[in-house]
Amino acid sequence: MLERLYRDVSPPVARILDGTLSGAELGTEDAVLLLGADGPDLHALLRAGDVARQEDVGDDVTYVVCRNLNFTNVCYVGCSFCGFARHRDDEDAYDHSMETILDKCRVAIARGASEVCIQGGIDPRKDHTHYREILTAIKGEFPDLHIHAFSPEEIDFGHEKSGMPLTEYLRWLIDAGLGTMPGTAAEILDDEVRNILSPRKLKRDRWVEIVRAAHSVGLRSSSTLMYGHIESPHHVANHLLLLRDIQKDTGGFTEFVPLGFIHEKNMLYNFMGSRPGPSMAEDLRILAVARLFLRPWIRNIQISWVKMGPKLGQMGLVSGANDFGGTLMEESISRESGSQFGENTPPEDFRRMIREVGRVPVERTTTYGVVRRFDDPALDPPSLEPGRHGELSGPARFRVPPRRRVAAVPSSY
Ligand code: SF4
Repeated sequence: MLERLYRDVSPPVARILDGTLSGAELGTEDAVLLLGADGPDLHALLRAGDVARQEDVGDDVTYVVCRNLNFTNVCYVGCSFCGFARHRDDEDAYDHSMETILDKCRVAIARGASEVCIQGGIDPRKDHTHYREILTAIKGEFPDLHIHAFSPEEIDFGHEKSGMPLTEYLRWLIDAGLGTMPGTAAEILDDEVRNILSPRKLKRDRWVEIVRAAHSVGLRSSSTLMYGHIESPHHVANHLLLLRDIQKDTGGFTEFVPLGFIHEKNMLYNFMGSRPGPSMAEDLRILAVARLFLRPWIRNIQISWVKMGPKLGQMGLVSGANDFGGTLMEESISRESGSQFGENTPPEDFRRMIREVGRVPVERTTTYGVVRRFDDPALDPPSLEPGRHGELSGPARFRVPPRRRVAAVPSSY
């Protein structure tokens, strides 16, 4: 009788899913079809994503204990989807001192972090030396802390100011302690879309040039996509193809992270008429399609719990994803755009959520080395979170931020 569950799957979708589970590589037209899957086709797609995940990486679900650190929100790029950026004269504009940056790293380490993820706005008053100073200051005090930092947009800005050849500039940052690079600022790698989302941001070819150069000097990166705004399934499929092609050449991507557009507090939705972010089905579809399309080249598909929320994140883990991302401890970029899902998930909550879907929690390094596998819940370490042992102070989990007015100027990676 199980056949009844699949008899309504349309023949083209059944053929594609059958093919990919037998090892065939998906084409962009296949991806476009799957990105529109609904009803029984959608159910079959999500199940295929989960089967492929099991075959590719087994039942471990990884996460990294990390801190996000947005060192300044002053930015003049003006992306229409951003609610984070501020003019330097805005009341709530900030630019952290090195002391504050080091304090934040210190607190992160005390809470078990192995990584700090650093990104900031593009402030024209700064130059390439600022990025290097952040790296040397952190490494001087915390040599073992992995620094995952500086989007291709920031690399573009610093590189232009430096006057160095690109690979030399990247090596200069690596020498100062840069460990890996976030593959953000990708949004949709199509200049027609980019010119609407953010005309002043780096173009597709420059993003590709920076990422390929980074991989060529041994600087690995994540890869991302922002969906749920003005893009079409063709844009998404071509974006995935580009990432797969880069990965075939360089092997430098550590993971793929689809980032759903947060619409509440930015121009793109409020004044430019974009879609209000992805539906639940789109969130799950993109994870399954990414798993099927990128296999076997990119093995780690990450859910963004900040954008999806914990429960939909758990659904993502049974639709093709195998990584729960980072604990973050602090998150401004999605929150300032209107995300309701807070800024900190303690490791023990990750482990609980992972176990709830029948999988095994594994703490990892940034580059997916195993720190610790948590097979037995009885042997879990005690929480390092403030407020978990009776204290009344400390950061709230899944804090719902107070609603703010729509930002006059844009937001988010
Ligand atoms: S997303 Fe926001 S902070 Fe980043 S470059 Fe665009 S406007 Fe600046």
